[in-house]
Amino acid sequence: MKKIAILGSTGSIGTQTVDILPAVDAQVVALTTNTRIQILEEQARALHPKMVCAYDEAAARDLKCRLADTEIRVLTGMDGLIACAAESGADIVVTAVVGMVGLLPTLAAIDAGKDIALANKETLVCAGELVMRKAREKGVKILPVDSEHSAIFQCVQAAQGNPIDKILLTASGGPFFGKTAEQMRTVTREQALAHPNWSMGAKITIDSATMMNKGLELIEAMWLYDLPPEDIEIVVHRESIVHSAVEFVDGSVIAQLGVPDMRLPIQYALTWPARVPCKVPRLRLAEVAKLTFFEPDRQAFPALTLAQRAAAQKGDRGAVLNGANEAAVGLFLAGEIGFAEIAERVAHALDTIAYHKDVTLDDILAADAAARALVRAQP
Ligand code: NAD
Ligand code: MG
Repeated sequence: MKKIAILGSTGSIGTQTVDILPAVDAQVVALTTNTRIQILEEQARALHPKMVCAYDEAAARDLKCRLADTEIRVLTGMDGLIACAAESGADIVVTAVVGMVGLLPTLAAIDAGKDIALANKETLVCAGELVMRKAREKGVKILPVDSEHSAIFQCVQAAQGNPIDKILLTASGGPFFGKTAEQMRTVTREQALAHPNWSMGAKITIDSATMMNKGLELIEAMWLYDLPPEDIEIVVHRESIVHSAVEFVDGSVIAQLGVPDMRLPIQYALTWPARVPCKVPRLRLAEVAKLTFFEPDRQAFPALTLAQRAAAQKGDRGAVLNGANEAAVGLFLAGEIGFAEIAERVAHALDTIAYHKDVTLDDILAADAAARALVRAQP
């Protein structure tokens, strides 16, 4: 039986992970949240982990009272997250926290030899080189949860060791597909939060609306599959049925298809290399009837070009791109800036913050902090 720690168990990916657990031969040893202690308490009472963490201190105090009648250790803060990742006795850690806060716990888990089921793409965007190097050194597997990267992972297994020539990374296009850059200036928070195909956390939903999500995924794919960014082509595919594809030297393209439901890639990351029955509805191609594909509109979605630029430069650019984006999305969600300003502030951070090529973890943390501060200080 596999021992599993779920970081961010109360979020969209976290709760869907809990939902498919009965299909996985697994025992949960740790769960974490930021402030959603009601859900965390319910999960803890059902799954009996050894330890839990509420990142927020006040929430942790409350959670401790709620779980006082149990043996479960209640932790808080970054130390708590790291303990859940590295000291809970897990074999595999599901990283389903949102944002760069996932970086240190992921590194700690890898250091401790835990496999990673990686949903937290911001970790690879900020520190892909470091994370992948450490994983190789420790012989740790990074199993992708992100649907596109799971698709690529599944396609690669059909390749019998032949190298990937090119990745075709599919994108739904989000709620603003077809809008011009001009029309995009007036879209609202509610419109941006209404994704046509996927129900996800607020941050990634906004990232999908700006298409920064696809930019982050391009960087994620670059590190996971060790490919230059020019070998990763973004294709808009409105139906979210083809979750991505891989092209080989002979021109043959292998794709993975399925209904848009994250429980399938989550489950596969936890049962790999085995496949077991999944509660997700089966794909009915005749009901889907039509699959469409388009070039992305780089004028309307400038985030794509920003991410591509950061991907090509490497060094600390991923951390600057991501830190600026997290801060700008936060400001947009708080109603403080307009939609188009998200990409503008990210561009400003990339243009303003000095570039460092060879980076340590401290450099990455510094680049992230500088990007956030710059974005928040802009009038
Ligand atoms: P979410 O907002 O629904 O959940 C985030 C989780 O992280 C919650 O448990 C929350 O309590 C916790 N959290 C938030 N801030 C925290 C902090 N500062 N410290 C500690 N914990 C914190 O997000 P989500 O949509 O589940 O996304 C999680 C990750 O998975 C993101 O990196 C996202 O890009 C990635 N992802 C999500 C989906 C999806 O369908 N939701 C798909 C692919 C990848
Ligand atoms: Mg994705």
